[in-house]
Amino acid sequence: MLKKEITTETKVVRYEKPIERLCDICKKPVNPHNWFRITTSHSDWGNDSIDSYENGDACSPECVLKFTREYVEESFDNEYNTKVIEIEHRRSLGNDDSDSWFGKY
Ligand SMILES: [Zn+2]
Repeated sequence: MLKKEITTETKVVRYEKPIERLCDICKKPVNPHNWFRITTSHSDWGNDSIDSYENGDACSPECVLKFTREYVEESFDNEYNTKVIEIEHRRSLGNDDSDSWFGKY
């Protein structure tokens, strides 16, 4: 017969759920009734155009302009790159729980 010792182990389970939408540019919370969704992409040759889509959230016209200025300046002097930007003014969060990111921020 073996004499046994009992030990216990507690496991921590971590759940992640969205609680607030933050501006991708200044990192402050967006007003859920007044914010912008920015979508960018390129239409260069190649199959990666579809992978080039990025979404970002912006809290104010200032943040939209800051992002837009940097985005278009980046491409203006490069004769080979194309850049597409779509700015959508939203008045509610709706059911959109899609996350956003801009690679550069
Ligand atoms: Zn902002």
